[in-house]
Amino acid sequence: MPYAVCHDHKEYVTPLVSTIVFAKAEFWCPYCGRKYGLFEPDPAEDTDELKARHAIYDEKSLAYLRAMGAVAYGAKVWHNGEWIDPSMLPVEIQDEYARIRAEGWQLQRKAEEL
Ligand SMILES: [Zn+2]
Repeated sequence: MPYAVCHDHKEYVTPLVSTIVFAKAEFWCPYCGRKYGLFEPDPAEDTDELKARHAIYDEKSLAYLRAMGAVAYGAKVWHNGEWIDPSMLPVEIQDEYARIRAEGWQLQRKAEEL
């Protein structure tokens, strides 16, 4: 299966992360921050290098995307086996998400540097 990759930096081919956290976007570039609709990304051949980058970005961005998802319009979050409004999360989790959002996601970092 080909990877969806970012248009904007051919010098560092970046597999996009699939997410619905950002409005009107199904993919997000963890390298430059660009957001893409479902059919907008470029396809790229599935290589071991892209597979490795994708796995790293997926894993390393999960906490950031969860924290961002908790403030997305109409968001529900999965907690203790049910979908709830983010405001119903335990206060420690809400505080942790707020800390992660405030810290933000650092762009221009190659997967190999994370
Ligand atoms: Zn990009």
